[in-house]
Amino acid sequence: MDLLNTLVDKGLRRELPSRDEALAVLATSDEDLLDVVAAAGKVRRHWFGRRVKLNYLVNLKSGLCPEDCSYCSQRLGAETGILKYTWLKPDEASKAAAAGLAGGAKRVCLVASGRGPTDRDVDRVSDTIKTIKEQNEGVEVCACLGLLSDGQAERLRGAGADAYNHNLNTSEATYGDITKTHTYADRVDTVQKAHAAGLSACSGLISGMGETDEDLVDVVFALRELDADSVPVNFLIPFEGTPLAKEWNLTPQRCLRILAMVRFVCPDIEVRIAGGRELHLRTLQPLALHLANSIFLGDYLTSEGQAGKADLEMIADAGFEVETTDQVTLPEHRRAGGCGSVCGSQDKAAEAPADTAPAEAAQPAPQAEAPAAPGPRTDLVTVRRRGAGTDVAPNA
Ligand code: SF4
Repeated sequence: MDLLNTLVDKGLRRELPSRDEALAVLATSDEDLLDVVAAAGKVRRHWFGRRVKLNYLVNLKSGLCPEDCSYCSQRLGAETGILKYTWLKPDEASKAAAAGLAGGAKRVCLVASGRGPTDRDVDRVSDTIKTIKEQNEGVEVCACLGLLSDGQAERLRGAGADAYNHNLNTSEATYGDITKTHTYADRVDTVQKAHAAGLSACSGLISGMGETDEDLVDVVFALRELDADSVPVNFLIPFEGTPLAKEWNLTPQRCLRILAMVRFVCPDIEVRIAGGRELHLRTLQPLALHLANSIFLGDYLTSEGQAGKADLEMIADAGFEVETTDQVTLPEHRRAGGCGSVCGSQDKAAEAPADTAPAEAAQPAPQAEAPAAPGPRTDLVTVRRRGAGTDVAPNA
């Protein structure tokens, strides 16, 4: 397919596809799906080989959030039955982190519910980061604490944080439909603050919330523009008790197309399959490893993932290998402060009018017959009852 050849060539050159080309990936038929995976897989292997980076979530503070994000099981007033607890102590967090690291993870993601940290919270998390770093040589630590105020990113960096996560989640145009208590601009501002403080910016999206293909392309282009180093792709977990509980919109095939589109737009960026992997990709999870170079090991913040051992077996069976601490995730050109001016100029070139004329190859393919509606798979959603905040051994 001309479209795929074009996208592979651009991906190998780190050149931004046109919006029409990105949309065309989302519009490919099931008949063409393996060709799409193979093409995006070439780009993935070029920049990341067959390595899979494992990340481990530690939920430092769960539930009780004053914000109203409609997709979130921890939102204000949600009756989702999730674990609710306040800040883990540094040793408790370090113990949870160590379980993930022993399971093969190289990055620990320290997450706390809430609009954003107070300065006291930043002190607390700084102590936790220092404890984890002292006890686990070579570990990467990412903090995810919500909207940052001036100076907080610098303090986290000073405490040893390597990265900061704050997702854009969806397009600017639809952001107000999913959250009223803060804005898309607030989120962009926090990603920029993290970047400016020298933290590696991690920012991603949630698909399956009822968005259009244009929304998905918009948010992925925005993430590339923000120069995120890692892009988590979440597939909505429609938690009972949240406003999006009825949004069962994703098929495994749709998830693969979304990941392929993200890979083509972000060829040399860590693309991470995040929440909803088991729920929506189901038996096609191994194919998704040809697109993403990073996953979460074990459980998510408030829901359970498949056993960590099953994650490792899947990676080995699919012919991939777990990335070790002595292997650097990002390609050489991205290691010193992102992709910088070279990549930036390519982005601008790709946005020039000549490139926006839809080539024949970029025309959306006619849709094949849609697969049967997936139907709600509430049987696959399990509230997390182990690991951080409990006395039960973690899944790692
Ligand atoms: S996504 Fe974060 S800010 Fe929004 S409701 Fe959930 S915990 Fe709160």
